[in-house]
Amino acid sequence: MLKTYHYTELSSKEIEGLVTRNTDPNNAIQDTVVSIVEEVKAKGDQSLRDFAAKFDQVQIDQLFLDESDIDILAATISRDQQRALEIAFQNIHKFHSTQLRKERVVETMPGVKCWREVRPIEKVGLYIPGGSAVLPSTLLMLGVPARIAGCREIVVCSPPQKSGKINGFVAYCLKLLQIKKIFLVGGAQAVAAMAYGTESIPKVDKIFGPGNQFVTKAKSIIQGTTNVSIDMPAGPSEVLVIADKSANPAFVAADLLAQAEHGIDSQAVLVATDIDLIHAVNDELVKQLAVLPRMELAQKALQNSYAILVQDLREAIQFSNKYAPEHLILETDNWQTITSLILNAGSVFLGHLTPESAGDYASGTNHTLPTSGYARSYSGVSVDSFIKKITFQHISKEGLEQIGSTVEILAELEGLQAHKNAVSIRKS
Ligand code: NAD
Repeated sequence: MLKTYHYTELSSKEIEGLVTRNTDPNNAIQDTVVSIVEEVKAKGDQSLRDFAAKFDQVQIDQLFLDESDIDILAATISRDQQRALEIAFQNIHKFHSTQLRKERVVETMPGVKCWREVRPIEKVGLYIPGGSAVLPSTLLMLGVPARIAGCREIVVCSPPQKSGKINGFVAYCLKLLQIKKIFLVGGAQAVAAMAYGTESIPKVDKIFGPGNQFVTKAKSIIQGTTNVSIDMPAGPSEVLVIADKSANPAFVAADLLAQAEHGIDSQAVLVATDIDLIHAVNDELVKQLAVLPRMELAQKALQNSYAILVQDLREAIQFSNKYAPEHLILETDNWQTITSLILNAGSVFLGHLTPESAGDYASGTNHTLPTSGYARSYSGVSVDSFIKKITFQHISKEGLEQIGSTVEILAELEGLQAHKNAVSIRKS
């Protein structure tokens, strides 16, 4: 079922081809998104209603739901479901609340003190995907760190559902996060609306959240053309599973399918040290796929996926580092011997009993992660994503005596006399 390659037989060009994904070679997505962004800039709220009709097939008069709408929707879910969301909220909160640490003051020379202080980004925009599946978990993954950071204004956008509303799960998460409004806008138009502002939607300083290729492209366009920043490119989801003889093929197949069911552009890669394991996983994929409600989507994603046969776990990690997966699962008894070799990955799941789904929902780590190879240079979302660290310094009389001549010499050698004067005038 999975196309299988032998690592040692692949040329570096072929490996490069295998690790490259989600490019937009003919600029089709780029062109669509540029025109959506321009439309939002020109027509504001009206364009958002038009796009809701076109892409989400719903007529929207009021572009947002307020607290009373949210209360009514949140009450439609069962107590068990509420409790599951509460546990996820608590675990995510527990894990993220340790991330705000005060740094110490450093005296670089006697009387020269430097330090950094944390300040929240004031206005943040959270995108909660809602096309092929509504992801209330994403609201927790973005809202919890935003709250811990202390962001003053949290704007939330999510595509309207067929009912013209959001579902009860998203509503209950809004209540847990004490967010009193949600905008019914999806896709590239939501990103553009939060970047430029419309009559209804406030402009923000930074936009967060995963999404499909339209959402991800809109974020990269916004980042390049406005002073609004983004968390990272978090596009179509992907997993790379490293497995050896100790792996249970049924577990491996379940993990690959958990990724594949996200959407047709998702990718699930198996890197195995044993050909028999690849065959056994393929058998399991057929069996498990047949009974999945999202079988069609998952099947298409698997066509875009593959297996690689490697000689040993070190070679497996070598390939994984080149791929830089959003999610990396190590299904081997010997995971402890290879974790230090991991260089590029968004989030790592260790051993046979740690499914990625645990991190997707409730263990505590964040599921908004870099995709498409961006794990080479980006981290996943955390409280750090919602703050700035501002440097401060204070120089005393003694400090000025200590550092003054150094600054004067450096200013002079750069030919910046006014810089030198700003020191000299204080020394005299
Ligand atoms: P989405 O909310 O990202 O996109 C839905 C919106 O896309 C629609 O409301 C519509 O406005 C727009 N759209 C649809 N077709 C369009 C078209 N032809 N032209 C222009 N705009 C169009 O929801 P989704 O589609 O279900 O995608 C969610 C994505 O998020 C998946 O790819 C999933 O893998 C990914 N994801 C990533 C992470 C991560 O951390 N990287 C986490 C969760 C989900």
